[in-house]
Amino acid sequence: MITQEDIDAFKRFNDIDYLMNEYQDMAAATAIYKTEHQVIYPALGLAAEAGEVANKVKKILRDGKFDREGISDEIGDCLWYIAALCRDLNVDLSEVAKNNISKLRDRKERGTLKGSGDKR
Ligand SMILES: [Mg+2]
Repeated sequence: MITQEDIDAFKRFNDIDYLMNEYQDMAAATAIYKTEHQVIYPALGLAAEAGEVANKVKKILRDGKFDREGISDEIGDCLWYIAALCRDLNVDLSEVAKNNISKLRDRKERGTLKGSGDKR
């Protein structure tokens, strides 16, 4: 039986779907790298930006300063590259997000969140 909670969750899921795909489209509008550099450019950019996140987090240890806004900005840069990578792979950012949550929920239900391996 479908409950009101199920309907509300469905609506929220569709809102997230819309927002993520809108973001992906907006990110694509600001992607200026060459067509022949698709996939490679955003994959390398994502790795670089993830390093920038790690560097800002590292500075918490070095300086004792927590730059929440700076870390947030770098996470945004990561998100842009993830969206660009999704576009280049012709997959929806929202589908990637939903598939990831489904995978993690399944692992949680089966008690396999801990451990290692892609196919738990
Ligand atoms: Mg950055």
